[in-house]
Amino acid sequence: MPVYEFRCQDCRRLVRLTYSFDEYEQATPDCPHCGSTALKRRIGRVALARGEEARMDSLLDDSALDNLSEDDPRALGRLMRQMSQEMGEDLGEEFGEVVDRLERGQSPEEIEKAMPELAEGDGGLDAFDE
Ligand SMILES: [Zn+2]
Repeated sequence: MPVYEFRCQDCRRLVRLTYSFDEYEQATPDCPHCGSTALKRRIGRVALARGEEARMDSLLDDSALDNLSEDDPRALGRLMRQMSQEMGEDLGEEFGEVVDRLERGQSPEEIEKAMPELAEGDGGLDAFDE
């Protein structure tokens, strides 16, 4: 099952929760550390590179993803903006900044360098912010 990552807005810890897609639609995630429900979904490397797993796949036809290349950040930015509009959710300032940067032609690698918090959870950086 897919793992969803959140940042707890109260205790600032990284929270990983596993839901099926159906469960995620119904879920009210809460923080296992402090019990807060003020969890903000994180946008990570996978979301940048491939769209957000099957949840976003379901919003797109396959050709949109097949044509997607990390070498064409503007197309990726347009696609991410389109996905966020179709989801009808506010995906947060971080997501908006990523989309803006992509639309300006920055590669995902450049964006991760400029926004190191995006790479958290992939390389053990979390040890430093708790
Ligand atoms: Zn918490």
